[in-house]
Amino acid sequence: MSEIRRRRFLAGAALAGGSIGAPAVVRAQARTVFNWKMTSAYVKGSPFYMDGPGSATDLARRIREMSDGRLNIQVFGAGELVPAFEGFDAVRAGTVEMNHANSYFWTGKTFAAQYFTAVPFGMNFQGMNGWLYDGGGQQLWNEVYEPFGMIAMPCGNTGVQMTGWFKKEINSVADLKGLKMRIPGLAGRVYANLGVDVKVLPGGEIFPALERGVIDAAEFVGPFQDRRLGLQKAARYYYTTGWHESATVSELLINKAAWQKLPKDLQSIVENAAAACNVISEGWCQRNNSEAMEDLIRNQKVIARPLPDSVVKALRDETDKVLAEAVAKDPLTKKVHESYFAFKAKFDRWSEISEEQYHVKVRG
Ligand code: CA
Repeated sequence: MSEIRRRRFLAGAALAGGSIGAPAVVRAQARTVFNWKMTSAYVKGSPFYMDGPGSATDLARRIREMSDGRLNIQVFGAGELVPAFEGFDAVRAGTVEMNHANSYFWTGKTFAAQYFTAVPFGMNFQGMNGWLYDGGGQQLWNEVYEPFGMIAMPCGNTGVQMTGWFKKEINSVADLKGLKMRIPGLAGRVYANLGVDVKVLPGGEIFPALERGVIDAAEFVGPFQDRRLGLQKAARYYYTTGWHESATVSELLINKAAWQKLPKDLQSIVENAAAACNVISEGWCQRNNSEAMEDLIRNQKVIARPLPDSVVKALRDETDKVLAEAVAKDPLTKKVHESYFAFKAKFDRWSEISEEQYHVKVRG
């Protein structure tokens, strides 16, 4: 047998699972190792975002294991490589290949980014997944980031969040006037229109600001993460539920040029790891929030209550106005808005006769 024919034979045997010869000859060609960096808007050790099932570090671990070490992603918490809200620019510049955060932090760059995190009075986890994975949302997300040379995908979800922590009771819209509140994104604009003095602070700065009275109210995530920051020690009233973030999506932002250098199998591994983290992180939130909420009410004397109907109505009316203004200003926002709300209309009708019926009439 000639050397070439012998090699072909051995390669064939290796591919067919044969035990003769050296399969390393076949595998060596395909093994290019990619070393990437991923920044985050959340500090190192933050549960859900940086630590635990479905977090940024868990995402990197899954990708490394599935790729057998061919795609290694070094994860940096907020402030380690770049400040909390500079991940967008870092990925855009190619300083890092990935950033893990929420797209609503980038509404100053492109307003339509809001829709891929959460729209006030928007869809829940099931609805968001329906729109993103199978209702055109994912394609629109990439279209929105096209001018920036980036793509994105969902890689986590908090489920429904909470309205937040208030030092004083909220009995009417008038109580919002002059209130200094930490609240990011579109909800911040809505509150601002109702007289709230809006502050955007990274997670780590919320507790000291609330405790010292620099702010009077704060929204963060939900019972588990909020309790970890100690917000229950700085404010007593915990208003429900997350009208502003009904299912907050974590965003995996990727530099498009770097993405295009990855072979198809590694791209697929990233997509599948991100989808796994999307579901796994939401499950983690359900378990931990159930436990934390019970502890806050029973043991830590937190007063949890819904916002008064009049306040919810004012927030809804103002949300409609803010969205209408954004849609009128930007054709891309209009396109995303129409896709989101067309999907939501169908989803709401289906939800009313399925999930909602179950919760109201059947579950008991
Ligand atoms: Ca939030």
